[in-house]
Amino acid sequence: PHAFRDLSPAFGTRLPTAGLPAPHWVAGSDAMARELGLGEHWRALQDAPGLLDVLAGNQPEVASSIGPLSWSSVYSGHQFGVWAGQLGDGRAHSLGCVQDRHGQWQELQLKGAGRTPYSRMGDGRAVLRSSIREFLASEAMAALGVPTTRALALVGSDLPVAREEMETAAIVTRVAPSFIRFGHVEHFAARRDTHHLRLLTEFVVDEFMPACRDQAHAHDGKLAAALLAEVTQRTARLFAQFQALGFCHGVLNTDNMSILGLAMDYGPFQFMDGFDPGHICNHSDHAGRYSYNNQPSVAYWNLFCLAQALMPLIEDEQLVLRAVEPFQQAFSQALAGQMAAKLGVQPGNPDEPGDGDLAQGLLPILAAARADWPLFWRRLSHAVARGFDAAADGAPPTQQDPADLFTQPEHRRAFEGWLQDYRARLARQDAAAAGMTMLATNPEYVLRNHLCEHAITQAKAGDFSDVQRLLALVQAPFSPVPGAEDASDAAPAWAANICISCSS
Ligand code: AMP
Ligand code: MG
Ligand code: MG
Repeated sequence: PHAFRDLSPAFGTRLPTAGLPAPHWVAGSDAMARELGLGEHWRALQDAPGLLDVLAGNQPEVASSIGPLSWSSVYSGHQFGVWAGQLGDGRAHSLGCVQDRHGQWQELQLKGAGRTPYSRMGDGRAVLRSSIREFLASEAMAALGVPTTRALALVGSDLPVAREEMETAAIVTRVAPSFIRFGHVEHFAARRDTHHLRLLTEFVVDEFMPACRDQAHAHDGKLAAALLAEVTQRTARLFAQFQALGFCHGVLNTDNMSILGLAMDYGPFQFMDGFDPGHICNHSDHAGRYSYNNQPSVAYWNLFCLAQALMPLIEDEQLVLRAVEPFQQAFSQALAGQMAAKLGVQPGNPDEPGDGDLAQGLLPILAAARADWPLFWRRLSHAVARGFDAAADGAPPTQQDPADLFTQPEHRRAFEGWLQDYRARLARQDAAAAGMTMLATNPEYVLRNHLCEHAITQAKAGDFSDVQRLLALVQAPFSPVPGAEDASDAAPAWAANICISCSS
């Protein structure tokens, strides 16, 4: 089976969706449709009523004669460091799996199609505001080369949904090889259900990480330890990408951690504007547990929860530690690689032992000035690409002088001191190639909060063109589009007042 639902009823519940009345399209991802092999038919499918109804959770009649097609899974997890017990797909219904154009099975999931046995106090709905954010973030991250759950479609409805104020409902169609989380594993461990724990981990290995079977010998024959080691490596790489992008997830609970090492569950996330290592993007996160700088150690903490949950299968503390402890090294190495690419230097060059210090030395300088993270990197890329010649008069925001981001004299001096070292370093390699690398690493378009807010405001008024425009920009984040300079510039002052919480 390509869905673990077929393995045992213990993994979830088959149940029908509760669809949105009179749904309408908000946006669709052509890139995702192409991956699913729908390229040629996608436009026609969007124009015909059938697909809209399916993606709005209004399943065709045929479903009722063979029982519900859709399915929600049960998981548990640690939320904000505390064991939360049973959670589950409280507003997600899987429709099943389809093969993409590479032959890989992809699960299609509707988020917001009604209550499930795991909804607890929730209403099973998702509002348009947060659905726009999840839809765009999924596709933005994919285009940035981050392993992530994807989004195929975003549909809306006038159905009222109560949050802090009345809003309207929407559904994102999410796509991933699997939505299995650390919390799925924790769920069966907490119930001391070793049978299902084993079934689940063997499914993950056989379906997604078959190489773990060959690796098991390096873990005393324990398949679960090989799995844990693989998840550790994937998570380390993922979080290095988060840090390099200035991406704050916002809710790194173990139930939001993919066992496949995908970024998932985009809620109060933020691509940072001004660089602040202590930045907290989620207004519900009062203690800053999930601040930018804390993300790597939280990932490690979450891996220990996964490790603990796998203990009944591994039965050897030393083996468990040997599987998770490589996180620190793997993360540092992956981050060094990311920073090297941002700086346009070859990662791990043994002749350039100072490269790590170069990257590390820059961060406090950016932090002191609260320099805009995406803009700084894009400007630096352009400066390198044009050989540090002065920027042209009236150059677009991303092509101006990076030094202009340091308005206070001591900040500017610190940056210029760093720049001397950096230019001396670049002189020892092909600087033109460095510029090319940097322009393909440091994006022109980043899904900043204020861009989302703007698109959300328009969409609430019934105009989805800004959602679609933003989607196009973030799906080709390295390619400047004439006339879209507003989308690559630093955030306006009002952006600092945008309040994003867990409410979604
Ligand atoms: P999150 O903080 O978004 O990761 O959600 C934590 C848990 O709450 C998950 O089990 C969700 O499925 C569930 N949940 C969040 N919002 C809702 C909602 N509106 N209705 C039902 N369940 C929800
Ligand atoms: Mg979640
Ligand atoms: Mg969420």
